[in-house]
Amino acid sequence: MEWMMYINGNWTKGELEKTYETLNPYDGSHLAYIYESSERDALVAIKAAKYSFYDDRKWRDMDSQTKGDILLRIADILESRKEEFARLEVLDNGKPLREAECDVDDAVHNFRYYASLIKAPYGGVYDVNSGFGKMHSYTIHEPTGVCALITPWNYPLLMGVWKLAPALAAGNSVIYKPSPYCVLTSIKLFEIFDEVGIPKGVCNLLIGGANIGNILSSSMDVDMITFTGSTKAGQMVMKNAASNVKKIGLELGGKSPNVIFADSDLDGAVEWAMLGIFLNQGQICSAGSRIIVEESFHDKFVKRLVERANNITLGNPLNNPDMGPVVNEIQMNRVLDYIELGKKEGAKCILGGYRYTDGECKDGYFIKPTIFDDCSSEMRIVKEEIFGPVVTIQTFKTEKEAIDMANDSPYGLAGAVFTSDGAKALRVIKEIRAGITWINCYNPCFNEAPWGGYKMSGIGRELGIKGLEEYQEIKQININLYPGTVGWYNN
Ligand code: NAD
Repeated sequence: MEWMMYINGNWTKGELEKTYETLNPYDGSHLAYIYESSERDALVAIKAAKYSFYDDRKWRDMDSQTKGDILLRIADILESRKEEFARLEVLDNGKPLREAECDVDDAVHNFRYYASLIKAPYGGVYDVNSGFGKMHSYTIHEPTGVCALITPWNYPLLMGVWKLAPALAAGNSVIYKPSPYCVLTSIKLFEIFDEVGIPKGVCNLLIGGANIGNILSSSMDVDMITFTGSTKAGQMVMKNAASNVKKIGLELGGKSPNVIFADSDLDGAVEWAMLGIFLNQGQICSAGSRIIVEESFHDKFVKRLVERANNITLGNPLNNPDMGPVVNEIQMNRVLDYIELGKKEGAKCILGGYRYTDGECKDGYFIKPTIFDDCSSEMRIVKEEIFGPVVTIQTFKTEKEAIDMANDSPYGLAGAVFTSDGAKALRVIKEIRAGITWINCYNPCFNEAPWGGYKMSGIGRELGIKGLEEYQEIKQININLYPGTVGWYNN
């Protein structure tokens, strides 16, 4: 199969007909050659999207019932091809199969959710000041226009769908650029878009890295950019987006606190803490990468955490071990560098801390689950996002200390509190400066609820009703119920 980009309703090898290779992170074997977009291809895609939105208007003007039906067909086809998509995601990204299957399920339901939501009543009628005569004031929502969507590699299919489904439901034309590390399921998704007959130019898929991202974010013809990725790249996007004051949505990095009080259920807190940092090999923006545990509970909690994390199985992700490899060699080396840094900084590595090469893992990019104890807020491994299976542990004595430690970060994406004291849980969670929080659990994520960060973790929200509104402009319409003069001027 040839892995190509999709521009203006056509599969194309692009201007340069140039490919790059992607490897299976499980064993470093060849997976695919993928055609890369040139800067000119990006301009062609922007032009096609612009024409489809402003001139052709087929998708933009389609009634929401018909549009919703098309999104439902996409969901049905995706569901019927679940195993194919899940397996491809595993080969490309390295996540265990059951996690990839959950991603496809979530993607299916995301399309269904927005297919329904677009048919719900929206807008409002306002009782306004009538100084200038009797007015009827109301609002409508309209699509924003040409939207560029940029995503990372950790949830290749799902991160794309979180943007594509609401953007399309709202009636926009899109240019989607996934991370070049993992594009295969995105290409397959566009096969489905092609099959269901979304009008040409409405959905465009570019394949490339920051150079293509820069063209999209600085283009005067792109009305909106929504970006998921690192805070550093997000800042570039924000700067470039100033060119034409684009609407922006940013879902950025995190270094999220997981606060565990001594009155927590021990086994529950340990299992959720593991899910918080070892799910998807720790490559989750919301990962609970900073465990902040009450001093009197520390020894008991850490002992059990180490015992259980040490038993985490690593292996061929198609066979559903607990953890697969990280996405590629670059990412593996980045995480291993952080591990070395943690050791140098004086944190105590009490589990893992190395590349895992036992048995069938010998050629893959595996990292043993890694736990650093005796950490302090000044350490870089506590401050910076590692984006791998590495967790730091700090202790606190008082509730206030726990809150201060939790908030001692430029990020504000997620956070959790574990305790059996309901009032304390609510008090502490209210104080945590983060957009996604949990009490007595970690990491569940729902299509229906808004997702996004405080502080340097981003701007705006995805998912839920907010996730649709991100891709809409709101127009105020004021109707004079008594047309004619108002007698303002004397002459
Ligand atoms: P990254 O920032 O390197 O790349 C993300 C995407 O942006 C890729 O498609 C990349 O090609 C593109 N890109 C890179 N530089 C760009 C630029 N200057 N202009 C425009 N586009 C550019 O991030 P990554 O390594 O792919 O993903 C990991 C990061 O994503 C982590 O920081 C993680 O926290 C974040 N993330 C956040 C969320 C969230 O919901 N907040 C979800 C998933 C991942």
